[in-house]
Amino acid sequence: MQILVQKFGGTSVASHELRLAAIRHVEVALSEGYQVVVVVSAMGRKGDPYATDTLLSLLQGVDLGSPRDKDILMSCGETISAVVFAAALRGRGHDVVVLNGGQAGISTSDRFGDARILEIRPQRILSELENGRIVVVMGFQGVNEDGDVTTLGRGGSDTTATALAVALNAQRVDIFTDVDGIMTADPRIVDEARKLKRVTYTEICNLAYQGAKVIHPRAVEIAMQKNVPIRVRSTQSMDEGTLVTSATAVLETATVADRFLTGVTQTAPVTQISVHQEELRGQNVFALMAEHAISVDFISVGTDRVTYTVPGKDGQKAAELIRGLGAGPQVVENCAKVAAVGAGIAGVPGIMAKIVDSLRKEDIEILQSADSHTTIWCLVHGEQMEKAVRALHQAFELDSPV
Ligand code: ADP
Ligand code: MG
Repeated sequence: MQILVQKFGGTSVASHELRLAAIRHVEVALSEGYQVVVVVSAMGRKGDPYATDTLLSLLQGVDLGSPRDKDILMSCGETISAVVFAAALRGRGHDVVVLNGGQAGISTSDRFGDARILEIRPQRILSELENGRIVVVMGFQGVNEDGDVTTLGRGGSDTTATALAVALNAQRVDIFTDVDGIMTADPRIVDEARKLKRVTYTEICNLAYQGAKVIHPRAVEIAMQKNVPIRVRSTQSMDEGTLVTSATAVLETATVADRFLTGVTQTAPVTQISVHQEELRGQNVFALMAEHAISVDFISVGTDRVTYTVPGKDGQKAAELIRGLGAGPQVVENCAKVAAVGAGIAGVPGIMAKIVDSLRKEDIEILQSADSHTTIWCLVHGEQMEKAVRALHQAFELDSPV
């Protein structure tokens, strides 16, 4: 029998009605003859009673002092969610077993809060499936060498799902969420965003790394290693969603062969920092940032100035550090990175001209820009971010089918 892994995100398991919609997808898979492994996230989003962020807010103003304990707390959201989901499945007459990360055989590194999966021993899951059960696995968690609970970082349930699919040699992994699939832009910003029917692992990885939060890029990379197809789809409909496969598989269908731009993404807030070389007197700002674990981006080093960006949360700290070197940095807070992402941007003439034109037409100031073979980034003021995303989406006619 073939195995199907089905992952349901937080908004897909937030209420009894939604869980029943999710279970319809499980039942379709069963009727198609699949053995089903379900991976669940914590229920709901920030503010909902059992969401991960809500659990974390219990620690507000408290110095827990133990990353290990914090992971125990954070893993509770999935524990609750899995048990409640299993109960709903039993209510529909199914035989179910709930497994936590460790029981599911997921071994991780011991970096609490951001652990990496090192190995999966799938024997327990396989024997439960052989016994005719649906296996419900708590997403986002594993255990380290000492048997301590670890969590996998933001989007960790996506990683649980694709890693299990690889370990179980599954036919496919379905990522169920609250949108119809992977779109040409975040549908919360661009009304005209269009669902992509098929994309390659590389395209969606690029999109995800540039800020499209619909699936975690690490999860995509894991599936890519063993060529396990991913389908991103909506819990609330039977729409087939977006199929993510290798380039060869996509080319065989010849549906997207000519697409050079996949979509537009955004990341915010970021802070832009600029310092005169003269004031730095040869001191290395990047070494200083690294020392304080501040990640830098958009780096441009000129004879006159050094300019770069840092995540918004690190902006103040970065500026202080530079003042500590005796220099007076120019700091622009609350910026946003807007990116046009594709597989074939490299060497296509006129793209930058089009970007500059479309942003200028909307009176959007480009603070900085950069490009790679897959992506062109523009740094803009935060309040102009949404306008910029919409302008680029329109300029490249991403709303019309390829
Ligand atoms: P889940 O809780 O199911 O994991 P997420 O919030 O992680 O859901 O991901 C789904 C959300 O991703 C959507 O609601 C949508 O707003 C957002 N999103 C951002 N960019 C894109 C995109 N390019 N295509 C689809 N969704 C996107
Ligand atoms: Mg998610």
